[in-house]
Amino acid sequence: MSTFVKFTIDEIVCMSEEGRQLIEAAVENGIYIPNLCNYPGIPPKGSCRICTVEINGRHATACTTKVVEGMEIKNITPELEEFRKAVVEILFAEGNHLCPSCEKSGFCELQALAYRYRITVPGFPYMFPKRDVEAWHPKILKDHNRCILCKRCIRGIHNSEGKPIFDFGKRGDKLVINIDPDTSKNISDDLVQKAMDMCPVGAIIRKEIGFKVPIGERRYDIAPIGTEIEN
Ligand code: SF4
Repeated sequence: MSTFVKFTIDEIVCMSEEGRQLIEAAVENGIYIPNLCNYPGIPPKGSCRICTVEINGRHATACTTKVVEGMEIKNITPELEEFRKAVVEILFAEGNHLCPSCEKSGFCELQALAYRYRITVPGFPYMFPKRDVEAWHPKILKDHNRCILCKRCIRGIHNSEGKPIFDFGKRGDKLVINIDPDTSKNISDDLVQKAMDMCPVGAIIRKEIGFKVPIGERRYDIAPIGTEIEN
């Protein structure tokens, strides 16, 4: 039998099943904790740090923290929001994110967070890294310029034998996420679409379909990120 626990987020009393991932428990209570590498239904990673909150006075990532009775969580504070903004700015400065020419524009969570934090130009110098666009796969375009290495695709996209479609290549600051030519050989259109939807940016693009939803009518063109959750 599940046990329910009471906790607070920004002094709002919340209830959830004990041991539930804090980020999901917040959603159940109509509260959005900004995040990027987390994705419902796949194991959390805690790599982007955007969901950092303050729990009983200490910083922790909400995706890797489980709720327990009596937790006091601070989510929206000037300090935490400033930190999240800085992480988003770093991600923009570190890659080549050319939003106006991206098929994910309007569906991109990084772009949507930039809107949230009113970022027009990052506060860090652009690095303009030289990165490839891979077009060899018959169904997938992989744009390394836009990849933020969140690893959602590695954690969440597997073929019918349970083998990952995407994996790591190279190391250190050269780390890339590649398409595995063997496991992706017979990938279905549905799974390609799922990978594209799961990718928070425009690093995985399904070939041969574009502008199905017109610019201006896309998810974050219509409502800011998080508002679909908030009470
Ligand atoms: S391809 Fe997309 S989902 Fe995969 S690691 Fe890069 S940004 Fe994340």
